Amino acid sequence: MTRIVPHFVGGSPVEPTGGRLADVFDPSTGAVQARVPLATADEVRAVIDVAEEAQPGWAATNPQKRARVLLRFVDLVHRDMDDLARLLSREHGKTFDDAKGDIQRGIEVIEFCIGAPHLLKGEFSTGVGSDIDVYSLRQPLGVVAAITPFNFPAMIPLWKAGPALAAGNAVVLKPSERDPSVPVRLAELFIEAGLPAGVLNVVHGDKEAVDTLLTDDRIRAVGFVGSTPIAEYIYSTAAAHGKRAQCFGGAKNHMIVMPDADLDGVADALIGSGYGSAGERCMAISVAVPVGQETADALAAKLSERVAQLRVGPSLADDVDYGPLVSRAAVERVEGYIQQGVDEGAVLLADGRGFTVPGHEEGFYLGPTLFDHVTTDMAIYREEIFGPVLVIARAADYEEALAMASDHEYGNGVAIFTRDGDTARDFITRVQVGMVGVNVPIPVPIAYYTFGGWKKSGFGDLNQHGADAFRFYTKTKTVTSRWPSGTLRQAQAPSEGASFVIPTMH
Ligand code: NAD
Repeated sequence: MTRIVPHFVGGSPVEPTGGRLADVFDPSTGAVQARVPLATADEVRAVIDVAEEAQPGWAATNPQKRARVLLRFVDLVHRDMDDLARLLSREHGKTFDDAKGDIQRGIEVIEFCIGAPHLLKGEFSTGVGSDIDVYSLRQPLGVVAAITPFNFPAMIPLWKAGPALAAGNAVVLKPSERDPSVPVRLAELFIEAGLPAGVLNVVHGDKEAVDTLLTDDRIRAVGFVGSTPIAEYIYSTAAAHGKRAQCFGGAKNHMIVMPDADLDGVADALIGSGYGSAGERCMAISVAVPVGQETADALAAKLSERVAQLRVGPSLADDVDYGPLVSRAAVERVEGYIQQGVDEGAVLLADGRGFTVPGHEEGFYLGPTLFDHVTTDMAIYREEIFGPVLVIARAADYEEALAMASDHEYGNGVAIFTRDGDTARDFITRVQVGMVGVNVPIPVPIAYYTFGGWKKSGFGDLNQHGADAFRFYTKTKTVTSRWPSGTLRQAQAPSEGASFVIPTMH
């Protein structure tokens, strides 16, 4: 019997009551290891009922008690870290150590959210007029939805759930149907940590489930991460239904390599950030931009040497640099891009097509692929490939390299490698990208800063985690209150009568 991954509703695993099922693969072997239900609209509405019922009690729990649940949750995740990482690795295909990194990056945001009582404080101004005080409150939104991608099945659900829960909301999480087990396990751990049943629910599904969340009036906000076309769809549909939305999309992250950079360090950074997790990271570097021909020639040689050494194999094997892609369709899509690059005239330095791992011939593997002489009109430059493919797009000078990163329609992350502070400072100021690394290849901000891309990489005005997350998951109420001073004189003062002029501070 194939295992069915349950929904998780009202504090318990819940079997599907109808609807379709999708396969969950083990990408390392290509075998189906479980099936996941794709919820019907009625099933999703029933989950929202449960969340709606649980939310007021959770909102009324004082913020410090809510934070303590998160504190205990962090301990439980550490207790179960290896099991979680194995489960994640087996469904996603990233290596065991990288799976631990996925979980760790998630709980770092939970750790930040333990400080929520501080972040939820309002503002207060006394004496703004005679006997008048003004103050603001941050109140939870109610029930919020999180719709998350396959590539970080622990981190991104936790980036959404942490601040939403800490702020007193109930959450309906719709994780990726491709690796759905870890989100369910995390929801179970939240219950063990003391979260009341119904406050965090996991419902699996595809477009039908998502559309139900987007159109149900009781969902007050939608946090989404995934590909750009879906991010745009979610953003516009949620907004049309009166919801606030923050939707993060795809990426094409450049690394500018100045002639003064240490090229061995650069090559190592590019190999790790380009091929780690098989390139299935929104902060992967997919475009290397060496400045000047000498830099480009030397870099291409160093990258070719290192690419030839990369070890690709089953995600849970020892000594593997990266594992399989998530699905057969993903392999075919990336191979299609490689062919397109060849057809468009790029120079293929390493071809990962047709790669197999002995004993795992049906696994979804792709060898490391490296292109040189890629130009900005080619599809492999313009589009997100999301696989182990690194392209070298040469720039004649710094201005051209800066313009390439700035003019690209995606604006998630970018890096510059240089030893020159003036160049780095100019780059930081002028580049049109949301997250910048200086001699750092994957500039994912730490939990107490915010994460978000620009242009087609992010829709909405507030970023993930950091203080922005608490602005997103709360609504502000501003109170203007007048209490006569209480002296007999004022208490007995006659009313000045109605005023028909707008109050000002004149
Ligand atoms: P995806 O867009 O296919 O799926 C994301 C979520 O949307 C999933 O839960 C999926 O079930 C749902 N979905 C898919 N098609 C839908 C449709 N037609 N209608 C409604 N919902 C739909 O993305 P993915 O392949 O799971 O993830 C990879 C993508 O995510 C890449 O583009 C990557 O760059 C991006 N990503 C971005 C960030 C970021 O912070 N910017 C982080 C991680 C991943």
